[in-house]
Amino acid sequence: MSLLKKEDIAQMNRNYFQSLEPEILVEVACNLHELAVDQMERLEQNSKNSSRPPSSDSPYQKGAKKDSVENNVENPDPKNTDENNAENPDPKNTDGNRAENPEQSVIDTDEKGAATVNELVEQPMADPKAENRCAGKQPGAQGFWRDAPLIPEGTIPHYPELCAACNVPLQIHVDQSPYMGYHVLELEKTPSGIRIFCTLHHYYVGVCSCGHETKACPSEGTVSTVEGRKKDLKFTEYVLVGPMFATFIAALSNRHRMSRVKIKEFLSCWMKTELGVGTIDRCIREAGIACFPVVEELVKELQDAKIVGLDETPWYQKGQLKWLWVAISSTIAVFHIGTRKKVELLNLILVSFAGWLVTDGYRGYLDRERHQRCLAHLIRKAIALTGALDQKAAKMGDWLLKELRGLIHAMAEGGEDAQKKCSPILARLKRACILGEKEEYSKLRALAREILNDWDAVVAFVKNPDLPPTNNEAERALRHAVISCGISFGTRTSEGSRAYAALLSVIETCRLCNIDPWSYIAETIRLARKGIAPIPVPSIVSA
Ligand SMILES: [Zn+2]
Repeated sequence: MSLLKKEDIAQMNRNYFQSLEPEILVEVACNLHELAVDQMERLEQNSKNSSRPPSSDSPYQKGAKKDSVENNVENPDPKNTDENNAENPDPKNTDGNRAENPEQSVIDTDEKGAATVNELVEQPMADPKAENRCAGKQPGAQGFWRDAPLIPEGTIPHYPELCAACNVPLQIHVDQSPYMGYHVLELEKTPSGIRIFCTLHHYYVGVCSCGHETKACPSEGTVSTVEGRKKDLKFTEYVLVGPMFATFIAALSNRHRMSRVKIKEFLSCWMKTELGVGTIDRCIREAGIACFPVVEELVKELQDAKIVGLDETPWYQKGQLKWLWVAISSTIAVFHIGTRKKVELLNLILVSFAGWLVTDGYRGYLDRERHQRCLAHLIRKAIALTGALDQKAAKMGDWLLKELRGLIHAMAEGGEDAQKKCSPILARLKRACILGEKEEYSKLRALAREILNDWDAVVAFVKNPDLPPTNNEAERALRHAVISCGISFGTRTSEGSRAYAALLSVIETCRLCNIDPWSYIAETIRLARKGIAPIPVPSIVSA
C-alpha cells in the first residue's frame, strides 16, 4: 500500500477523526503511523547512512559528534550507554523496535558478529594516540630529496655596504668568494603566460680597514608562533620560493581550492617544478599571515562605510564547528573565522560603526537601530508557507510573498515616486502580518511575528533608497568559501583560520577595487620577508 499523500493529509482534521468508527479509526491511525515511520527514517538520514552528500548534514550535528568523540577520549569512563538510550526516548520499547530499527540491526550483524553497541561507541578510545596524532609527516618517516640539482639562470650577489662597526663604506674584492648561497624559484608573468625560473643568491663578507668583518645576510621579518608547534613560521628571504611564486601557490589553494597534494602534482606535471608539500604549505600560510596587517587596516577603513552587509556560514576548525563571517561594503570585504557569539562581531564591526548593517535574521544584530533585514530570507519563508497543508496558511503565505516581492519591485523600478507606490504595499503587508499573527498555523504566526517585531529593519530600504533589500553581496562573497569548506573540511589551527580569512579578505577587497590581488599580495610578502610593514590596498588610500 502506498503512503498517504499531501492531499490525503489535508482532508484530515479533528472532526474527521471523531466521525470515524473505531475499526476504521485504527486503520487510519496505522496509515498515519506508517507515514510517520517513513518520515522519521528520512529525517535520520545523513551522509553516513544514505547516499546524501556530506554538505546536507546539519552543521550542529557534525560539530556535536566530533565533540562527543573528543569527550570520550578525555574522559575514560563516559556513560555511553545513556547517550545511546537518549536517542530512544522510551527504553522499554527497544526490543519491540529492534527489528524495525535499521541502525541496531546493522550493529547486531557486524562482520565478526561479536561487536556490541558499547564496543562500537568506544572504538575511538582504542587508540587515543591516533586521535592526537599531529598532521603531516610523522617522526621517523622516510624523507624525500631532490634527485636533480636546481640549475640557476643567473647569480645575484649580495655585498655588505657599510662596516657594521665603524659605518665606513666597504670595498669589495672581485676575487672574493661568497660565504653562503641559496637558490630561489621565482615566477614571472610573460606576455603569453607564466614562467618559473631559478636564481642563485650569493652572500659576501666585507673586511673593513678597521679590521672588522661584516657579513651580508638575507633579511628577516617577524615570527608567527603557535603554542605547541615544533617549527614556527619565520618571514625571511632565505627560502626556496620567491614572493610571486609563493603567491601563485596561495592562489591555487585559496582561490582555486586545490589541496597541497594537488598543487604538488600540478607544479610537477605542468611546470616541471618539484616542491614538497611542506614547502607548499609554508607558501600558503606565509601569504595569509603577511596579509594580517593589511586586514587590520581594512577593518579600520570599513568603519567609515555607509552600508555594510554581514553574513555568516558554518566553518570547521579541526573538526569543530566555527563560523566564517563576512562584512562587505562597496569597496572592502573582511572575513573572520570564529564562534557565532555577538562579541565575535567586534572583529569586523566596531562599536564606533555608524553606518547601516544589512543582515539576515541572526539575533545578534537585532538591537541595532540602523539595520536592514534581508528580504530574501523572509521571501524564502513565505514560499515555504505557500506549500503548507493548511489552506488558509498557504493563502496567507501567498499574500505575504506578493507584498514582499511587490516592495522590492516598486523600489527597484519606481523612480522618484517609488516611496509613494510603496505606502499601500506597506499597509497591506502590515495588515497581512497582523492577521497572520492571530492564526493557529505556527509557521505563519512565526513569520508574521518576525516581520512585525522587526518592522523598521524589514522596511528600512523603503525610507532609504540607497539600501539594498537583500543581503546578496555578503552571501555571494561567502559562496566561494562554502564550497571550499566542503572540499577541504576547513582549517586546522587558529593561525590557519586567521590566515585563510586574511587572504580571502585581501583578494576579495582587491577584486572589489578592480586591482590585481596577486601582484599586491606578492609585494606584501616581499616586504614582510624584509620586516617592512605592507603598503595599504591602493584604492583605499585614494578613496
Ligand atoms: Zn670598520
